[in-house]
Amino acid sequence: MTAREATSTAEEAGSEPDTVAVGGAAVLGPAVGGPTVLGSLSPSRAADFVSCPLKYRFRVVDRLPEPPSPAATRGTVVHSVLERLFDVPAAGRTLAAAEGLLPGAWADLLAREPELATMFAGEEELAAWLTSARELLAGYFALEDPRRLAPAARELYVEHVLDSGLRLRGYVDRLDEARTADGLALRVVDYKTGRSPGPAFEGTALFQMRFYALLLWRTRGVVPRELRLYYLGDRTWLRVVPDEADLRATERRVQALWAAIARAHRTGDWRATPSKLCGWCDHQARCPAFGGTPPPLPAEAGAVPVDDAAPAVCEPEG
Ligand code: SF4
Repeated sequence: MTAREATSTAEEAGSEPDTVAVGGAAVLGPAVGGPTVLGSLSPSRAADFVSCPLKYRFRVVDRLPEPPSPAATRGTVVHSVLERLFDVPAAGRTLAAAEGLLPGAWADLLAREPELATMFAGEEELAAWLTSARELLAGYFALEDPRRLAPAARELYVEHVLDSGLRLRGYVDRLDEARTADGLALRVVDYKTGRSPGPAFEGTALFQMRFYALLLWRTRGVVPRELRLYYLGDRTWLRVVPDEADLRATERRVQALWAAIARAHRTGDWRATPSKLCGWCDHQARCPAFGGTPPPLPAEAGAVPVDDAAPAVCEPEG
């Protein structure tokens, strides 16, 4: 097991908007007893905008469909298994038990989304895919022993409306709580089924964790003591110990990002920003950086980009 102590600051990374109201024209709904909600932001859409505004546009403004991928679907299934694993009595939380949960998690997902079956050409491909999912579960067990844990929450939905009217929200994969002499200690844990990022992309991953920490701080009044990001693909993890200054910087970063998204809506300037991530982008065919032409912007794009869908538990990148 390897761990990397995160040293980057919150200012290095991005955030995630789902909905933006431009010029105060859009109102998504009142926050009960709080400020009026003018827009929503979640970590993964923020990361989209930071990495490539045009990708954000295709996903959030144009709402272009993206075909299911075996990697993203495997991420969803592995997250589901890790959630279910903590329903098993502590002593029974073994790798064999996790592998035993895999067929049920896959069957449940398939029942909800039958079209996923078309991803596999035959039984052999499906079997290879299930084997790769088992390898990721083994990767999890290489990082920690779930028999020693009693999570306070799994797949926890958290949201908070900032005074500006921006609603932040997202799903925390796992929240651990402990009563200590210093009061309540929170640990936020997130699973990634891919490999750990290189230094150039580490900041974005850590920003997501700080985003969750900000949400928990604002909703519970406690700065999480530790943020952990487990990469099951290469069995490593990142760890961050945030403080209030960190989270205030994160909030400023989120607000600045929201302003940038609102500006893109106003101006229609959704700039293509090619990077290594283009290899995972479903929109190359319509991207000018690859010789394509984006579709016309939806008529309402400059006014109210409506995307109030709840964030996904497991994002397409796993
Ligand atoms: S292919 Fe690359 S530059 Fe084009 S939209 Fe996708 S991520 Fe952006």
